This record gives sequence, C-alpha cells and structure tokens, in this order.
Amino acid sequence: MRIILFLLIVFSFNFSLYAQQTSIVDFKKLKGNISLHPEKKSVKGKVSYTFKILKKSDSIYLDGKNMQVELLKNSPLKAELKSTDDKIWISHQFKSGKTYTLDFSYEVKNPKQALYFVGWKNNKNPQIWSQGQGKDNSYWLPSIDDLNDKIIFELTYEVPKNYRAIGNGVLKNHQTKENSEIWEYKMSKPMSSYLVGVAVGKFDFISLKSKSKIPIELYFEEKDSALVEPTYRYTQKIFDFLEKEIGVDYPWENYKQIPVRDFLYGGMENTTNTIFAETLLTDSIAFTDRNYVKTNAHELAHQWFGNLITEKSSADHWLQEGFATYYALLVEREIFGEDYFYHKLFESAEKLKEESDQGKGESLLNPKAGYSTFYEKGAWALHILKEKIGKENFNKGIKNYLEKYQFQNVSVEDFIKELEKSSKEDLTTFTEDWLKQSAFQAEQALNSLKKSDFIKTYIETIALRKLDFEDKYELLNQALDFPVNKYIGQEAVFQLEGKNLSKKHHKLYKKAFETNDVYIRQAIAKTLSKIPFELKSAYESLLKDESYLTQEIALANLWGNFPEERTKYLNYLKNTSGFYDKNIRILWLTLSLATPDYLNAEKQNFYQELAEYTSTTYDYSIRQNAFAHLYQINVFNEDIYKNLMQATTHPVWRFRKFSRDLLKELLKEKEHKNALQYLSSEFSEKQQQVLEKALKNK
Ligand SMILES: [Zn+2]
Repeated sequence: MRIILFLLIVFSFNFSLYAQQTSIVDFKKLKGNISLHPEKKSVKGKVSYTFKILKKSDSIYLDGKNMQVELLKNSPLKAELKSTDDKIWISHQFKSGKTYTLDFSYEVKNPKQALYFVGWKNNKNPQIWSQGQGKDNSYWLPSIDDLNDKIIFELTYEVPKNYRAIGNGVLKNHQTKENSEIWEYKMSKPMSSYLVGVAVGKFDFISLKSKSKIPIELYFEEKDSALVEPTYRYTQKIFDFLEKEIGVDYPWENYKQIPVRDFLYGGMENTTNTIFAETLLTDSIAFTDRNYVKTNAHELAHQWFGNLITEKSSADHWLQEGFATYYALLVEREIFGEDYFYHKLFESAEKLKEESDQGKGESLLNPKAGYSTFYEKGAWALHILKEKIGKENFNKGIKNYLEKYQFQNVSVEDFIKELEKSSKEDLTTFTEDWLKQSAFQAEQALNSLKKSDFIKTYIETIALRKLDFEDKYELLNQALDFPVNKYIGQEAVFQLEGKNLSKKHHKLYKKAFETNDVYIRQAIAKTLSKIPFELKSAYESLLKDESYLTQEIALANLWGNFPEERTKYLNYLKNTSGFYDKNIRILWLTLSLATPDYLNAEKQNFYQELAEYTSTTYDYSIRQNAFAHLYQINVFNEDIYKNLMQATTHPVWRFRKFSRDLLKELLKEKEHKNALQYLSSEFSEKQQQVLEKALKNK
C-alpha cells in the first residue's frame, strides 16, 4: 500500500496535462485522402473524422497548424468549422454519448515542420517523408497532438506519377492515374497521432516473413541495391527474437522499414512503418564499424513499447526509450555475444557515472531529462530490475503489463504495479534508487557488471593505466596473447600511446598487428599517428583492413608520415568510397589535390567532384564531410559558398550548426567575407539573415 501512496504523490502532477480534451471527446477513426504536391510543397486533403462525445459540449478541436478548412457538402455532421494558427475548432451542440462523423477538406502550404520535401528542386532522387514525434504531425494532417487519444487511421496518399507512398498499415489498393499514383493504406487498431508516418520516393523492396508469419518489407532506392543485404542483415532474426523475448505477439499486421535522405534522427518508429536515416545504409565492410542492427532492433521494440502502449506524459518517457534501448541491447547480445553486451553496459555506466559525478544526473521521471537518462540510464534500470526480481518474474510482468494496457496509455506507476504483482516484491527501493534519484547508482551497476568474468579482466587491464610502462610491460604483453579478447587487446594498445616509444613498445605493437583482429588493429591506427620506421610496413597493411574507419585513418597518417610514398598510398585506395558519407573518397580527393604532381591532368575533375558533394543532391552527412575537407585545403568557389548558405538553414540541426560554425570561421578571412557579401543578393531571405547575424557576431 505504501508504494501506491508514494507513487500517487509522484505522479499526480501529470494529470492536468492530459485531462483536457480527452474527457470531452474520444476521436475514433480518421479516413483521409491526402494529396502531396512537391512542386508547391503543399498538402491537400479530404478527411472524415468519427468521434464520440463523452461530455456535453458546444465546441471541440483538432490540432492543425495553419490549415485552411472547409466543411464538405455531404458531411453527416453540419458543424461550424473555424481554423486558428494551431487548431481547427468544431462548433455544434454536441450531446454526451453520441457518435458523430465530420467530413471536411483542408489545405496546408509549405508545412514548417513534420513533412519534408527533399530533392525536388534538382530532381535528384526526390523524396517526401514525415517525422511526427514530438507532436508535430498536425503541421500537415489534422490530428490530435495529445498522445492520450488513440485513433484508427485509414490514410490514402496521392503522389506524383511513378512514385510510391508507404504509409501505416496494410496497402489495400493502388491505382495509377494520368498524372499520379494513389496508395490506399488501412490500419485496424488505434494509435497516437504522432505515430502516423509516410515516405514517398522511387522505392523498391524485398519481402520477408517472420516465424509468426508477419510480412516484413525492406525498402531501398535502386542506387543502393548493393547495400540491401548488409544493411538489413539479421532483420528476421531480430524480429523473431523480440517476439519471443517480449512474449507478446507483434501487435500489428505488417512491418516496413524505409531509409530516407536528410532524416532528422537515426530512426522513427511510426507504427508498422519505421523511417530511418539513409546514412545507416552499409556495405559489408562498413558493417564492421557502423551497422543498422541497433536502430533496426530499437525501432522494432517500439512497436510494442511506445506504439502498442504509449506514455501518458513525458514523465513516463522511460517506458518508451528505456525499453526500446534495453531490448535492442538484448538483440545485440544475441547477435554479437556476451562480451559485446557487457562492454556496452560498461561504457554506458562509465558515461552515466561521469555525468552523475559532475552533478548532471537526472531522474528517469523528469519529463525534461535528456538522451543519456531516458535511453541509457533507462536501459540500466531495466537490467537491474530484471536481475533483482529474476528473468522469469520480469518477463511475466512485462507480458501482463503489455496485455493489460494494449492500445492504451500507461504511466510508470502502472508498470511498477504489474512488476510488483508478478514478482510479489516491494519495489520501493528500486523505484527510489533507479527512477526517482538523479544520481546514477554506480556501485550497484559495478556489482552487476562484475558478474561477467570478461568485465573483471577488462577492469583489471584498465587499472594498469596508472602504472609506468616498464612495470606493466609483461601484463600488456599477456593481454595480447592468443586467443585475444578484442576489448582487452584494444585497451592494451591504447596504453602504448606516448611520446618516446622504446623497442619494447615496438614489440608490443608488432604483436598487436599480428593478432589480425580488425578492432585491435584499428586501436593502433587511432593512437599511433607518428609512425616509427620499424612499424612502417605493418602500418601500411592497415590500408587493407576490412574497416573504412581504419583505412581512412591509415591513409591520412601514412600520407602525412611518408611524403615520398604518397602516390603509392593514394593509388591503393583510388577506387574506395567508404561509408555512406564517402569518408574515404572525400579524404582521397582532398589528399590528391594536396599532392603536387599526382594525377595533375585530373585535378580539375577531382575538385569538381569534391565541390559537388557539398550540393543538395547528397545527404547532409556527405555534404558535411565535403565542407570540412574543403575548409582544410581552403578552396571555395561560388557554388560551394551557395551550398554552404543553403546548409545554414538545413532542417537537420547538427548540420545546420556545423554550417553556421563554418560560416563564422570563413568570415574571419577577408577573401571569404568579400565573396560571401558579393553573392548575398543570390541568397534566400532566411540565408541573408543568417549571414548578417554571423557578420555582426563575428
Ligand atoms: Zn526510440
């Protein structure tokens, strides 16, 4: 009983946030025909909303930002409609208990957020995609920002000819018209409006089926067809594993995953319709360092934790992000092994402890907490909870919780209650330590980590950092003995870093090279930037490693250390592109331009290619890489300046910030400043404002 009283106090402040319209009206269903017009960046739609009135009222609203609305002549409900900046008001003498259907048309021009038209200007692989979380879908779709009203969506999209629209639910029908394509999707279960998602492009897909016979579609653009297998590797295994581990059948009728350009985040778990960043596409070599497995698992886990059951308010956000992160980690353990799992937990514990020690720890119940709290501390809390009550009780509690609250909204209190029931334990202390406290419980975390023998040895190896090289030589030597553990081997290599390298250092480096472990060798690349002559040929062999990260660092370092052999090194990676962000190609072009007498006849082409990578044709990750390298060699032209100014107003904030910072740097030099001012009349109004502001604050 005590726990319940305590929780009531903690959670009572949430109620005012979601007890607003949901007590007056329950929106049940939205049927909509929505046409997307990229040439005008506009959305036009005809929608039919069915809702039940719970409490007599003379007006209700839908969320809709800057929408023009008009009642349709044949609308069953003859209500008065009025739109404001952010709402559509529906006035009528509504009677309690009665269900109404309202049909109206709407139009939005150039939605500020949530729906993005990418690449239509220069017609390079154009796409349209949406991003509804936080509460943004009402920028393009009349909907409900409040997460607590779940609706059945049946949305039909009309898009330009030859383009595919991928929406939530099952594709019921597809028609080709003279100038357009019509894609009709249908869901049979309700969800919160922020989970509506659509992607439009020239997409193809491959199909799989889960063990439980759920159809899974994996989308791609033709240019990326070679990346399909490594990107989506393990998808079926992930799906089958999560269904089994969570113990509740996948709640929806199908599952689709679509990579898009310039996406704002890594991925978004729209129900049945995960949209993710194109930058996560990988080939088999890129897979070594960056792969889609974690995001794949994370977004899929949300189909239960977030979509089937949804937080009541931001104070319950742990129930979504902490759970998706934790279950993705369990997937990774299944695929990459026990050591990987404990190493990830160790790394996140280190980070959380550091933040906590600096007084930056946050409670998991803090609605404004950041990424590391909701995601990483959130996953830790579940790991500890499972250890505390045992796997069986934990899994039973999760199953009961999901089944009891399916298609509803939940609070942390609801979850804790279910787990107390399944475990018959009082979880007051756990709630206090892991949910309420802002400090990270580092000691509990360490005790848990020590259950892994690997972590014990790993921590002992880290402890050697304090010792002088001579005193730990033998131990580091042993750490690199066959069969080597990649994390312990990496740690040993990191401890070799220093200014005065002795013969003994060289011996250990040689041993590390000879492990032939791609991660241990990468640790050498990362830390040995001044290459001793004795290690030159071993170091050169890094150019052949199956890792684009290793290759990139090795090329840069070899080029810098041995100028007389630049041609040899450049020739070696002449045909390598690298990660999706073209890390190696962009470095290669830069170094080629900076190497006198290297392929002089082609230098103009190299420069043009590098400059082209800054254009809107490419994903922001490629553009950012190209800008950074052009800055290194300090060669800009009109197009690059214009592309940079375009980038300073880009929707991806990291890229926008990078571009604004670079602009500030450039303005410090007269030549760039004059050029930018000279071109300013060709910049958009918004870009001109950014430039003026940067000139003032310089
Ligand atoms: Zn998430």
